[in-house]
Amino acid sequence: MTADTISKTKTASPSSAAGVRRDRAGAPKVGFVSLGCPKALVDSERIITKLRSEGYQVAGDYAGADVVVVNTCGFLDSAKAESLDAIGEALTENGRVIVTGCMGVEAARIRDVHPDVLAVTGPHQYEEVVSAVHDAVPPLHDPYVDLVPPEGLHLTPRHYAYLKISEGCNNRCSFCIIPSLRGDLVSRPANQVMAEAERLVNAGVKELLIISQDTSAYGLDIKYAESAWKGAPLKARFLDLATALGELGAWVRLHYVYPYPHVDEVIPLMAEGKILPYLDIPFQHASPRVLKAMRRPAHQEKTAARIAAWRKVCPDLALRSTFIVGFPGETDEDFDLLLQWLTEAKINRAGCFKYEPVEGAAANALPGAVPDEVKEERWHRFMQSQQAVSRALLAEKVGRTTPVLIDEVDDEGAIGRSQWDAPEIDGSVFLNGETGAKPGDIVKVRIVESDETDLWGVTA
Ligand code: SF4
Repeated sequence: MTADTISKTKTASPSSAAGVRRDRAGAPKVGFVSLGCPKALVDSERIITKLRSEGYQVAGDYAGADVVVVNTCGFLDSAKAESLDAIGEALTENGRVIVTGCMGVEAARIRDVHPDVLAVTGPHQYEEVVSAVHDAVPPLHDPYVDLVPPEGLHLTPRHYAYLKISEGCNNRCSFCIIPSLRGDLVSRPANQVMAEAERLVNAGVKELLIISQDTSAYGLDIKYAESAWKGAPLKARFLDLATALGELGAWVRLHYVYPYPHVDEVIPLMAEGKILPYLDIPFQHASPRVLKAMRRPAHQEKTAARIAAWRKVCPDLALRSTFIVGFPGETDEDFDLLLQWLTEAKINRAGCFKYEPVEGAAANALPGAVPDEVKEERWHRFMQSQQAVSRALLAEKVGRTTPVLIDEVDDEGAIGRSQWDAPEIDGSVFLNGETGAKPGDIVKVRIVESDETDLWGVTA
């Protein structure tokens, strides 16, 4: 996902997202370009919140900014290239650029291409970024007008927000360099997560998107430590946190969950309507041989049976996943197994990537590189199979009445999402002619039509 607050944003600008729109004469303005995943987006939000609390304004374009912060992604080589391009664009359009984020760990490489950047900092180095901004444009102190809303400032529209529960990852998937960029798992205490979630809900957020590198590993590093929440101890444990979040009255959507055995425990919460019947599980493959070479956590041969058991408890469960085709050593047989599994497991939504070697990843040393044309052909076959699965599952929704969270409204109608759809990555529910709703409303909708991606409905 890319949230770019300067030029190609799909989200509101930070100031409008927070309901704050004011220009203060003389206040320094910082532009933000945020590339990469929701975790990077949350990092940008933290930096913006801190800067706004010090009186900085957020600029909506390069020309209006005194300095531009580019939050980079360093996950894939293509993402690094995109990051270098974004830095170049910011330098051309503005000239005063601070680089942060995952690619910031490669300061020398950035400076080789762009020697004029003012500073380079790595992921989570909030203090360093803020201090680099101070050096570039000193803050204009005014304690009366520098106040920010208590929920902080968000790059997402006001009615949904990403909530990061941990940083880093203890796994060592062979294609991934995130642990070397972001370090091992560091979980936030449960009461801190809850306090942030409650602030967000009190500020009008209707949907909390729970993110991390490995959400189901939450609390492992701090031995599931208890912290006091609302006068009672709350354990930093996946189930306990999901239960507590479910009591806040907002939609709670779980992302980046691995199929560890204890994930079974949250399915009843979904069946009871406490949290959304939705799991984002990056399965990456289905062939045990490929999963082993990928060194995936919690991989097992019986995953399809496990999913079927989850659906017995919660028939409405929607699964979103990502897969890699053309991983080194992937044979025709492995790939056919993946397609067969996809149909059997009935994955509602799936993204598919053609394997790309990442500098520094262990998988680069694996034999059996798959030719590009084979990767391409497998990608197309994967998408065709997935679309057939998705089309059939969405057709089953026709005739049902379901709550829909409205994202946008214009003269022609409203666009929202069902409980089975996350923002940006999944489908939409189109309500043609429904102009009376507002973004953030949850309306009851009868589904009347479907295709392979989206649903159409009328208010019930
Ligand atoms: S689980 Fe694997 S792919 Fe995900 S961040 Fe950790 S090492 Fe990377």
